[in-house]
Amino acid sequence: MTMPTLAASPGVIVPAPRDDLCLDFANTRFWRGSDPATETLTEPESLLDWAESTGGLPAVIAALRERWRGDPGEGRRRLDDALRLREALYAVFAARTGGGEPAVDDLLAINGGLARAPARVRLEPHGDRFAWRIPVPSGLDALLTPVLWSTGDLLTGPRLTRVRQCANERCRWLFLDDSKSANRRWCSMSQCGNRAKAHRHYVRRRGQAGG
Ligand SMILES: [Zn+2]
Repeated sequence: MTMPTLAASPGVIVPAPRDDLCLDFANTRFWRGSDPATETLTEPESLLDWAESTGGLPAVIAALRERWRGDPGEGRRRLDDALRLREALYAVFAARTGGGEPAVDDLLAINGGLARAPARVRLEPHGDRFAWRIPVPSGLDALLTPVLWSTGDLLTGPRLTRVRQCANERCRWLFLDDSKSANRRWCSMSQCGNRAKAHRHYVRRRGQAGG
């Protein structure tokens, strides 16, 4: 009797993304409550660099780098598409953290991206875990596949109730609150909490000084 085996199949192996990868993507624009906000994805190359730094699909990143070098207009258009998706994603999570309903258009944008991203239909052992085997992907939708998957996983999973938006009005960073008490308000005490405290102190002193 022969044991059943997984037949070799074409495609690439993609580990499941961290479920907060989508928040990292949303936070590529930060200090959102300030004017101007800080934008890190200013060039098509910066989008590719970000994907690379977060463990994106190397073959897709290399192919797009090559293609966009030869056609900068294409790179710019795809960057605009990616930023539109990012803003929809940010808006949906921000709406959730504020207790509101996400806008239909924002959900449509996310669903459109998910529909174009490769489907997860095949599992294979990968190291000490499992990973997805997907058809050889190409294009922007493939580049954003891990982000889109993590968006779906976070929105449908138990950690959605842990998504927070930094209480610092000028910051508005999205983060997962894994604290035991689940009442973390600042994205990072060193960056935001201290700045906010200093600001309150300043306002109080001004009040005491009568001006
Ligand atoms: Zn913050």
